[in-house]
Amino acid sequence: MVFAEPTSPPGVPSVPSGRADAWSAADGAALYGLDRWGDPYFGVGARGHVIVQPRGDRGGSLDLVELVRELQGRDLSLPLLIRFDDILEDRLERLHGAFERAIAQYGYNGRYQGVFPVKCNQQRHVVEQLVESGRRWHFGLEAGSKAELLIALSLLDDPDALLICNGYKDRRYIETAILARRLGRQPVVVIEQADEVERIIAASSALGGAPFIGIRAKLSARSTGRWGSSVGERAKFGLSIPDLLTTVERLREAGLLNDLRLLHFHVGSQINDIAVLKDALQEAGQIYAELTRLGAPMGFLDVGGGLGIDYDGSRTATAASTNYSLQNYANDVVATIRECCEPHGIRPPTLVSESGRALASHFSVLVFDVLGAGGHSETVPPPAEGEALILRNLRDTHALITAIAAAGGGDGDDAGDRAVVEQLQEAWNDALKFKEDALTAFRLGYLSLPERATAEGLTWASCQAIARQLEGLPTGTVIPQELQALPAALAGTYYANLSVFRSAPDTWAIDQLFPVMPIHRLDERPSRLGSFADLTCDSDGKIARFIDRGQVKPLLELHNLRPGEPYWIGLFLGGAYQEVMGNLHNLFGSTNAVHIRLAAGGGYRVDHVVRGNTNAEVLEAMEHDPDLLLERLRLASEQAIGRGDLAISDARRLMAHLRASLEQTTYLEA
Ligand SMILES: *Cc1c(COP(=O)(O)O)cnc(C)c1O
Repeated sequence: MVFAEPTSPPGVPSVPSGRADAWSAADGAALYGLDRWGDPYFGVGARGHVIVQPRGDRGGSLDLVELVRELQGRDLSLPLLIRFDDILEDRLERLHGAFERAIAQYGYNGRYQGVFPVKCNQQRHVVEQLVESGRRWHFGLEAGSKAELLIALSLLDDPDALLICNGYKDRRYIETAILARRLGRQPVVVIEQADEVERIIAASSALGGAPFIGIRAKLSARSTGRWGSSVGERAKFGLSIPDLLTTVERLREAGLLNDLRLLHFHVGSQINDIAVLKDALQEAGQIYAELTRLGAPMGFLDVGGGLGIDYDGSRTATAASTNYSLQNYANDVVATIRECCEPHGIRPPTLVSESGRALASHFSVLVFDVLGAGGHSETVPPPAEGEALILRNLRDTHALITAIAAAGGGDGDDAGDRAVVEQLQEAWNDALKFKEDALTAFRLGYLSLPERATAEGLTWASCQAIARQLEGLPTGTVIPQELQALPAALAGTYYANLSVFRSAPDTWAIDQLFPVMPIHRLDERPSRLGSFADLTCDSDGKIARFIDRGQVKPLLELHNLRPGEPYWIGLFLGGAYQEVMGNLHNLFGSTNAVHIRLAAGGGYRVDHVVRGNTNAEVLEAMEHDPDLLLERLRLASEQAIGRGDLAISDARRLMAHLRASLEQTTYLEA
């Protein structure tokens, strides 16, 4: 019997025979790009677990797997959103540090004073943390709607911090901002539409006081990529140059020019290419100089958001990356604006940025569990007594492939490798032919259903055996395309306990890439390729695009599931925009969330627990009444009891399940 391939216990990654090298946790980190996009917050430990360094390289670390285990022990089930508030604070420090260094380096005679765009993550604990941590820099907030303005007004109590008011504004919005100035806040109402100036003038004369005023300019510099249309002539927001001049004149006539303090622009989110920013900065710098020349006191230049995140760690100008660092960004802002002001003898403005993504992406990690994996079984169907010839042919082919394995191994001989590839190709051609024969035989009634299953099983086992053989060949060996495609053909679907629409909506809506990877077993070579399917009944509910150094791959290297053992996957860098964009598709609600801080003497603290939506809550969101729902089912079960169809004990069990479900989160229980 030729079962040359040792059948490994389920789940133990199949180390290819022959020239396969050993595999370490560092290899796992490199495979998923963790060492590039994760730096300095996420890395790998010797045990193959993801390690979190919430303060970057300044000390203190947590084993993410242990943390998840301990949180589960507190009844916080997966999927779980873990927010590391230390990372949020560290990002804030890095942003300010970068601007401080740039200001020193270029001898810039002005300051940097940032704001957080609330739309990026409006969660109370997140905004509170940013306001608290940002106090020492008078870090402010940016609001784009009335609700966000209410958040910002109530949380931002530092009189020196800026409160930038963007978005569409009605009279009440503007009056609120004017009156907030009297509370000792610093609201800057940014004129984004040509008609807003009239509302500001009317509100100011009615209240006998004006807000600080800003103007958003429509620049001609265009960003590329997803958010490129945020600028340019057809942009939704901002004043064209003629409108900008008219607005200045209207403010002058109304006696409000003295309140014009800020010029704003926004190139679009996730600027991939620094060249785009440089153009925008030069243009905005000139407009700023012109505005001071027109008599506005000015003082602030707000470069908007757009500071990007290197999601795939490739450092390229591709969609999931940036070709610049935080420091490059700060340097360019400072140096360019200095160059614009110096020749005109203009006082350099306080530089404001509205960096959302850059601050909030890293701090939250979504961990979800895998419920099971589909795909083809690896086991070779055992031979039956008097097996049909077609099946024997397939079985011989499989044996032949594994035998090639035994002969081919480990001599580093080019010609030998080529011969191995040739034999594998030939064997695969045979396997395909025999499989076709088996199908034909089945159609004609010569093969039974179990026999057809054996034929398919043997074909997949052959496919698997070839794939393992290929892994063992040295890199650089020329492999025919047909064989190269085999590992992908063997790919499995991993069923994820999450809703993409709730927790990673941008992967679905705008094809955004986030780093996704197992958070343990990194010291084991992954033996399969796979993608994720979520809990929703929507075929779009999947994660099937993965980072690949400036490119995208449709399948991710994953491990075989082990019976009785969890397989935990982390989705990283999703702290910006995902939560609020997430929706209730299929009535999957918010996940459990926790805020973790490093504790002073080592270890950690759970600062806040935000329970995920219960089934009752998502039902209520759709106007259903959980009590009424229970009552209807109680009546139905009484009738069933009356008819003799339902035992009283079963009715009690049914009602208990219904009540318990209403109180639980919408996700599957482990
Ligand atoms: C969305 C937005 C931001 C934030 O952009 P990021 O890319 O998250 O930094 C800043 N300013 C304005 C006007 C925005 O619309």
